[in-house]
Amino acid sequence: MNINRDKQALVMVKKIAYLTIDDCPSEDMKRKVDFLFEKEIPAIWFCRGEFLEKRQEVTSYAIKRGFIMGNHSYNHPLFSRITFKECFRQIKVTDELVENAYLRAGVKRPAKLFRFPWGDKGGGFELKKGGFLPRQKNPDKIKSIQDFLRKQGYEQPSFENIRYDWFNKANLLKDADVWFTYDSMDWAILMEKPMYGIYGLREILKRMDEDAPEEGMGLNYADSNEIILLHDLTELTFMFRPIIEKLLEKGLRFQTPKFHGTG
Ligand SMILES: [Zn+2]
Repeated sequence: MNINRDKQALVMVKKIAYLTIDDCPSEDMKRKVDFLFEKEIPAIWFCRGEFLEKRQEVTSYAIKRGFIMGNHSYNHPLFSRITFKECFRQIKVTDELVENAYLRAGVKRPAKLFRFPWGDKGGGFELKKGGFLPRQKNPDKIKSIQDFLRKQGYEQPSFENIRYDWFNKANLLKDADVWFTYDSMDWAILMEKPMYGIYGLREILKRMDEDAPEEGMGLNYADSNEIILLHDLTELTFMFRPIIEKLLEKGLRFQTPKFHGTG
């Protein structure tokens, strides 16, 4: 199906989207929080420990406005390339920083949520046109990290109605970390050589109209809800609003997943 962007209102897809934003807090996070708050869009922000140390205020500000802070490691290493001990330290140190953000905000932490940097669960990652998939290269290490996350109280939220085969075959809802069904690929413009023909916002918005549900491009596919991935990096701030606005235009409605409340 070819979609003419001018006629987008005609192809509105009614489905739910869960918004996740990685690599925060940036210097621009407050502006993004205000924008989402005003639009009544909930989001899970996956924070890097090193950034949390630098910018404490904004996370408490976001928590008070109902946003959820997750853990995205301390300084974004590839978990397949660091020792077990270092993996655990990355999770633990950032966990305490997130905990402190909730304490400062005076809000009870609703759940403990984790996202691996680079989508590397300990066995590396695979990069396809539609985004990241974990590699299962080192099953013992992957399992130990999952066990550690569970022991720390990390959980998989109840994302409803995710119906992609590629996603469900990889068992991504069975693990203790949070994956995504739609990678906006906003990050692709930061690469030395832009990837997959993505040079800027234009290509990123165009990609949102593609119909390839089993290749990670299913925004027009009504049968599955979405876990959307964006990044909170200052170099990408200019794309934040247009991407969200386009998701709204397409008819997606944002929601918070349910938590089991072990956090
Ligand atoms: Zn990241």
